[in-house]
Amino acid sequence: MTPRYQQLLSQLRTAFPAPVSDPVHDGYVVFSLLRALDQVDALKSQAPLLGKSVTPDYGAATEAELPAAATPLEQVIPQLVACLSGMLVTGHPRSQINVVAHPSIASIVGVVLPSMYNPNLCSDESGQNFSAAEVRVAAIVSRLVGYNPARSGGLFTFGGSGTLLYGMKIGLEKSQPGTLEQGYRGQGVILCSEHSHYACLSAAGWLGIGQENVVRVKTGWDNAVDLAALEQAARTAIGRGQKIAAIVATLGTTDAFGIDDLAAIHALRERLVVDCGLDYRPHLHADAVIGWAWSVFRDYDFAANPLGFRGRTVRSLAALALGIAPLALADSLGVDFHKTGFAPYISSLFLVRERDDFRTLVRARSTMPYIYHTGQYHPGMYTLETSRSATGVMAALANLLLLGKEGYRVLLGHAVEMAELLRELIAARPELTVVNDQNSGPVTLFRAYPRGVNTFSIKQLERSDPAFRDQLREHNALNKRIYQRVMSEALAGRGVAIGFTESCRQTDYGEPISALRSYVLSPFAEEGQMPQVVDRVLSALAEEVVR
Ligand SMILES: *Cc1c(COP(=O)(O)O)cnc(C)c1O
Repeated sequence: MTPRYQQLLSQLRTAFPAPVSDPVHDGYVVFSLLRALDQVDALKSQAPLLGKSVTPDYGAATEAELPAAATPLEQVIPQLVACLSGMLVTGHPRSQINVVAHPSIASIVGVVLPSMYNPNLCSDESGQNFSAAEVRVAAIVSRLVGYNPARSGGLFTFGGSGTLLYGMKIGLEKSQPGTLEQGYRGQGVILCSEHSHYACLSAAGWLGIGQENVVRVKTGWDNAVDLAALEQAARTAIGRGQKIAAIVATLGTTDAFGIDDLAAIHALRERLVVDCGLDYRPHLHADAVIGWAWSVFRDYDFAANPLGFRGRTVRSLAALALGIAPLALADSLGVDFHKTGFAPYISSLFLVRERDDFRTLVRARSTMPYIYHTGQYHPGMYTLETSRSATGVMAALANLLLLGKEGYRVLLGHAVEMAELLRELIAARPELTVVNDQNSGPVTLFRAYPRGVNTFSIKQLERSDPAFRDQLREHNALNKRIYQRVMSEALAGRGVAIGFTESCRQTDYGEPISALRSYVLSPFAEEGQMPQVVDRVLSALAEEVVR
């Protein structure tokens, strides 16, 4: 008689893709995916939401236990699909909430293939052509931003936060050589803007530099770092005997799409080396995880405008292209395909202009006795990660091939065109005003005010005059209530889901300024939705004022 475990084993084998040619079983694999998609389809409606809005039951979740016996795949799938219930559909035409990609089919296939065959990018022993794909993507993006791919290097890591960690770590090694072996000796400082992502703080904390040694320099009303203040901060740190582990320039801030003047920061760095007689060159990292994508417009013919964008859009795209153009001056930079590259999480590329910079991170070969016997390409010798998935690489490669430069121009240009339409509509209403009016891009931050408030002057007064503190707070609260109304309407299938930020920046007297946020990224966004945004906000405003 066959032992019991043998019987169960043969059942369990059907739950795996066949390792040898078995087209019938491949059909079962695909069909299982199809069943899942079918069940997701049943959750769809007019609203930019799957199923109904839910409050997760964490109490019930903590009761979970490992099932005693196996569950048939057919019964597992509905439980997985249930996790999508209550989820916002970011690619929905009525969704303008945040910077989240709607993944293309190609990028999904790009994730599925390595998920099935499981290469490990630690070394090219595992999946030679997957490793080559990582090198390919790094070369494509290098050319796009103006790096020389013969000298540059790149690797995919755990998010934009990971790219910052790598940039800062290389900078730490340059400013204090030997830290990898001997440990950190203190004295490091990170310079960035107050609008840099909080991941700068996380990375500094995790590297041991400490969050208190991150100097978040003030910005101007264009949400770009104040260059004089940055220079002051750098000289103060050097004067105190600190080492600048990295200067982080943010090219495309998360909320407002502020773009730091990278060329000026680069010039400042060069000046500091000479003026202060530094024995190291402070590492300059560009956090371009959002902004990188607009590099596709660096060589767009704005005068001829072959894609036929509207005048306002052309102007915005030209401003973005100019802002992003100096990227090649950065020593390293971060790129998130899962933000503005239409790929699923996680797809983040860390690029260095000089591949040799990775040498600062190489561990001793003797500490890794068995991983690197054969093959030629072993990024695992300098990556923080050991096992490294190829899903991010393949999603990125898929989209670069699928879209090409023109496809990216079309999708990103469309996003900016929609944002410009919205800005025009907002400008036409005296109750509304754009907060990030000095920035271009797919994101519009705006505020609504009760009738009678002079929106031509209020913005300036609230920003600079402490006498307006109470009014500002009142208007912050008003805009939050408007957001809540617009959102609950949207979840009921009416209007458009927009976002809200409690603090898109601070006033001169240190008070947070809240704003409604429209972040257009979906290829399915349409002109017709933009007036709906304004209509919904205005009717919510009217309801609030009557209240
Ligand atoms: C989102 C973001 C990050 C963090 O990237 P993750 O991919 O979320 O880890 C860093 N910097 C900026 C400017 C961002 O917008």
